Amino acid sequence: MKYPSVPLNQNDNGWLIDHQQTTRYPVLVGNQTADWVVVGSGFAGVSFARRLACLNPELKIILIDANGAAESSSARNSGFIIGLPHNIGSSTAELKKAQGYRSLLQAGINQLSTLIGQHQIVCQWENIGKYHCQVSSSNQRILKEYCDHLSMMEEPYQLLQQDELEQKLATRFYRQGIYTPNTILVNPASLIIGLVDHLPQNVTVYNHSPVMEINYGNNIQVRTPYGTLITGNIMLATNALSRELLPATSRQAAMATFASITAPLTAEQRQRLPEMSSWGLTPVNAIAGATLRYTPDHRFLIRQHVIPALNGAVTAAQTYQATEQHRRLFNKIYPQLNDVPVLRTWSGTISVTRNGAPVWGKLKKGVYTAGGCNGAGIAKQTIAGSLLADYALSQHHPLIGAMLELGHANYLPPSPLLDVAIKLSLAKERFLGRSEG
Ligand SMILES: Cc1cc2nc3c(=O)[nH]c(=O)nc-3n(C[C@H](O)[C@H](O)[C@H](O)COP(=O)(O)OP(=O)(O)OC[C@H]3O[C@@H](n4cnc5c(N)ncnc54)[C@H](O)[C@@H]3O)c2cc1C
Repeated sequence: MKYPSVPLNQNDNGWLIDHQQTTRYPVLVGNQTADWVVVGSGFAGVSFARRLACLNPELKIILIDANGAAESSSARNSGFIIGLPHNIGSSTAELKKAQGYRSLLQAGINQLSTLIGQHQIVCQWENIGKYHCQVSSSNQRILKEYCDHLSMMEEPYQLLQQDELEQKLATRFYRQGIYTPNTILVNPASLIIGLVDHLPQNVTVYNHSPVMEINYGNNIQVRTPYGTLITGNIMLATNALSRELLPATSRQAAMATFASITAPLTAEQRQRLPEMSSWGLTPVNAIAGATLRYTPDHRFLIRQHVIPALNGAVTAAQTYQATEQHRRLFNKIYPQLNDVPVLRTWSGTISVTRNGAPVWGKLKKGVYTAGGCNGAGIAKQTIAGSLLADYALSQHHPLIGAMLELGHANYLPPSPLLDVAIKLSLAKERFLGRSEG
């Protein structure tokens, strides 16, 4: 029997610095039955559980996590709720798929927006768009292509040169950038914690209960250290983590990426910058480049560095390397702020598939999954999770077609071949984007 390595980040989520104490959910102890078990309380699992519970309030649903929502990647990300596909492609078929994908992301955003309004979830929700920027003049082709794609999608955008960017971002680090309005910025930890705290009554939550083994049979047995769940239906919302639990060939790989947050700027430090409200920036090369934010409470967030993490574990040494890297980069971008301390660096896992398609749908009788986020998952995993509930209960939903049109993730080879392939592909991306970091 090969047990899953449950996710482990030897670092603390910086989004929780100012967060008041989070609700404590019990550990699963003893045996229980449920109509549905959902493993994983990130955006995918939480939206699936919510939708299932709303479609049928009679169902007994159990949402279980190895840690809890506050420790998931859903709480550890950079907080960009993106409403646009990244790669649009140039053929008519690709354009149609991208339009379908945009409808899905928009539906995800709408769901989240409705829920934070309904439950008064305080999560620094700001509808302020984002900048997509390049550092090196040799990468102009990438931005030009992106502009063409945005025009094809009839998406509004603004192309900005170095001087204009300096006025917005207070740095001359970026040569060119595109501003698109269709992105929300949030504190992701406050958002996902708030969503779990307001789940319908027929969803019971257990934390710190890692699923170590699942016996698939007519009755599915979900085994954790101190308790077992017996169910007819299970949804694995573990993204690329705990691959050993999936009753199917592997189609996704877990990688880890890191983010750091600074202390809030003092009044004196803020005077060294032009007057500026919060903003967010993504890099043209997501592997080598850095995501950057200036938050409403005057902190900077830096997200950079991607490493393989097939078993979901990140060590303190790997975290320390990322801190050093982020500090150097921050000093390069804002030399006038070299006395601003970095307070936390943390990691989280993302799922990467070979062809960028998700792993979504029914795996076998009573077994479902929504994974393969490919690095962007707030809007995407929210809608993927909720549509999967409709799909599983055979409800008609106009967006299920768009979800299926995203295709299926390709097969990935097992370790150790997979480990080598991931290292090579990351090294290639780092080399191609070396002028962006
Ligand atoms: C640093 C960073 C920055 C990012 N920035 C962005 C961004 O700005 N915008 C964006 O859209 N996306 C971003 N992402 C990606 C985004 O966080 C993910 O796409 C999203 O969290 C995936 O959601 P999920 O619900 O599928 O999985 P997760 O959030 O990973 O949740 C999976 C859950 O499964 C649980 N689990 C796993 N194995 C077991 C087990 N055996 N037993 C019980 N529970 C288990 C885990 O504990 C975890 O809570 C970023 C990711 C990182 C790491």
